[in-house]
Order: sequence, then structure tokens, then C-alpha cells
Amino acid sequence: MFEKILIANRGEIALRIQRACREMGIKTVAVHSVADADAKYVKLADESVCIGPAQSNLSYLNVPAIISAAEVTDAEAIHPGYGFLSENADFAERVEQSGFVFIGPRPDTIRLMGDKVSAKNAMKAAGVPCVPGSDGALPEDPQEIIRIANGIGFPVIIKAAGGGGGRGMRVVHTEAALPNAVSMTQAEAQSAFGNPTVYMEKYLENPRHIEIQVLADEHGDAVHLGERDCSMQRRHQKILEEAPAPGLPAKLRDKIGARCAEACRTIGYRGAGTFEFLYENGEFCFIEMNTRVQVEHPVTEQITGIDIVQEQIRVAGGEKLRFRQKDIQFRGHAIECRINAENPYTFVPSPGRISLYHTPGGPGIRVDSHVYQNYLVPPYYDSMIGKLIAHGDTREQAIARMRTALSEMVVEGIQTNIPLHQDLMTDAAFLQGGTSIHYLEQKLANLKKAE
Ligand code: ADP
Repeated sequence: MFEKILIANRGEIALRIQRACREMGIKTVAVHSVADADAKYVKLADESVCIGPAQSNLSYLNVPAIISAAEVTDAEAIHPGYGFLSENADFAERVEQSGFVFIGPRPDTIRLMGDKVSAKNAMKAAGVPCVPGSDGALPEDPQEIIRIANGIGFPVIIKAAGGGGGRGMRVVHTEAALPNAVSMTQAEAQSAFGNPTVYMEKYLENPRHIEIQVLADEHGDAVHLGERDCSMQRRHQKILEEAPAPGLPAKLRDKIGARCAEACRTIGYRGAGTFEFLYENGEFCFIEMNTRVQVEHPVTEQITGIDIVQEQIRVAGGEKLRFRQKDIQFRGHAIECRINAENPYTFVPSPGRISLYHTPGGPGIRVDSHVYQNYLVPPYYDSMIGKLIAHGDTREQAIARMRTALSEMVVEGIQTNIPLHQDLMTDAAFLQGGTSIHYLEQKLANLKKAE
């Protein structure tokens, strides 16, 4: 196993990876921007290296600085976390060319899955069901585009092949609106992702977002760790996730999970990954694959007892998976609330100093966060300041524990979305389970109307 790993990330995931390493007896190197110099996980790391100023493009996205930091500290492997360089195939390649191990899939796999058009084609070929849509990228000819849309049936959604983070998507309801929507999405895709390629999918009106976690080794073994329901979203971004998905028949999960594990073997996947699906009328439709650890991985860890970050590290070190599909058991129910420094209803970020901070505890409660009292939430990065996870024998118990935990949690000095989560924990539709990806937006719109 590795002796020293460099963690090319910040915030809660940097601390999460550091904890996994410590438990495995692996030393850690924290790299950080000037803005994060005082962060707790930077102080707790065995070594730390400042890699640049606050702006991400000069620090957390600064590939030469990160490689140099690995060189001067003699790290053997680099864990990219999520976001930043985690799905950048060129970075993974540079890491390997410089003689380090990239903790993730091979660069060509990242490249294949990083382009949503090639990812969908590969998944179709591997027998994974996909959202009906254009056969790859949209052609130039407007008449041809209209023909494709009519073939799929309105409404359709135009999506950027290089898109991510819920951006680069546009829903189109009529033929008349189509040409303009396509050219606008192309222009946005070019400026945001440096790739103007767009494709078209059927716009599903009432789906749930259900995803499958997989783990694969380089010896050809792959397993799935069940599903997560991430339908509670605002602006196509998740804010609450749970496992298992309420009301999903175990048989359906086993079937789609087995398909995903099989697809991993087909494409020679290595490491942890997530197959994202829209689920409607009992059918799964693949939308994309994430080739990294996800924010919501803890809910799966809570119900399987498997430490996904440690398994990523073991597999990257060349080890065989330590379990087979039949060894994986699901126990109880887990829910994660993403705690963001933002206005709970407008989502406007609220960086600043945390003047008072108390975390909850008790049976089944897990807090993954890097912040503390007097911590200054910097304005430069993602607004998530931590994750509150509740596990129980049943969904009802997990919700009851989450409710208590949210009531115990104190974060003052900045705004957080804790009130929104408290609201959700008593929301009749959430309590029933199985709400669609549009539920939260609709609920917020109704709240606004009532004002
Ligand atoms: P990103 O990579 O930006 O996260 P995804 O392709 O994963 O983009 O889609 C993010 C979210 O956008 C989904 O969870 C869903 O809410 C919505 N979405 C994407 N494709 C469709 C579709 N075909 N129909 C309806 N909603 C969609």
C-alpha cells in the first residue's frame, strides 16, 4: 500500500480523504490556496504545500503546481476528490506520466465518460438503458435537428456534451423555439466548457434521479453498492440524498445494479464510479457517469458498511476487491443533508465568519465537515460547508434522527440552508417518499406565491 498520498482538493472532502488515509496508516500531503492556509485539515495533514492564490484556476486547478508539490513531498499517489481536477483526463494523464498513481479510473476511461455523447454511446453498447435522444451530437442542418426532435417528441432537452454541475441544459417545448435554443446552448457550452457540441434528449416530465454506486478493480472484478435517490434538487443540483430509494423494488435495483457492474467489466473500469439515471414509470434511463467519489457517497457507506474512499485507495494500489456481490448487504436507511452557506430560499451564497458553531450527535448521526467556530467561509469556492448524515433501521427512524440533529445544529454569523432542510423533514410529500426532480422547485415556487 501507499506510504504517502497527496490530496488535490479542499474543504470537507479533503478532510474525509485525510481521515481515510490516517485510518490506513498512510501519510497525507495537503495542498492549499492562500485562502485556505489556516484550514483545520491543512494543519492536521502530515505535510502541506501552498500551491497558489485564492482563485481556483491558479491553485486547485494549477496542474504544474500540484505535480511539483507531489514531487517535493515524495507522495506516491494523488487523490483528486470531487470537482476541480477529478474528472480531468489530461490531469490524470499528467499525474501518471510524472510517475504518480492517479486515484481514479484510467485517463482514457475519464475521457470516454467525460463527454456525455461518447458516454451514452458506450453505455448503449454495453446494454445500459439510456434516455431516448439524438444519435450522438446534433448535426448542423436546422431541418435535420427539427426532424430529430419530432422523432423523439416534444418536450426535448438540449444538453452540452461537456456539461456539468447542472449547467448547459435547455428545455424546448415547441418546434419554433428549437433553432434558437440549440444555438444558445452551443454558445454557452463553448464559453463554459470549451466545447460547443450539444445533443438532444427526451425531456422526462416527472422522473426521479436515482444513481448506482459501483466499485471495480483492475483485475476485472466489479460490484455495485446499490442506489441513491438524489431527486431533491434545485437548479439541477442535489441538496438532499438518501439510500435506498424509497419504494424502489429490490428486484429492480439488483437488475440495474448488475447491468452497471457488467458495464464496468465491459469498459475495463477501475475505481469508484456512479451511473446516474432518471427513473420514470418503473424504467431506468442512463444520463451520465461520474468517474470519481461523489458528495453523497456517505449514505451508501452508512447502509453497506463499506468505506468507499478506502476502497478507492486500495484499488488504485492494485489490490483486488475484497468482496463479491453476494457479500454486500444493505442495512437500514440513510439520509444526507448538504449544509450550504447560502440563503435557504434564494440560494444566494453567504460567505463570512462563523461566529457560533455546534454540531449534533447521538446514535446514527455523522457530520462530515471541515468548518469550526470562527472559521471564515471563503467567497471563492463552492458554498457547501458540510454534510449531515443520519442512519436508522428504517426511513422513519433516519428522518426522526435527522430532524433532531438539525434542531441541535447551530451555525451563526452566516446564513445556511438548515431551515430548508428542517422544512423538508416535515414535508408531507417528502415523508411519503418518491418525489420527482421537480418537486423542490415547485415547492419553492408555491412558497413564493404564498408570500
Ligand atoms: P450534470 O452533469 O450537469 O449534473 P446531468 O446530465 O447529470 O447533468 O443532469 C442533471 C440533472 O438535470 C438531472 O438530475 C435532472 O434533474 C436534469 N435532467 C437531465 N437530463 C434530463 C432529461 N432528459 N429530462 C429531464 N430532466 C433532465
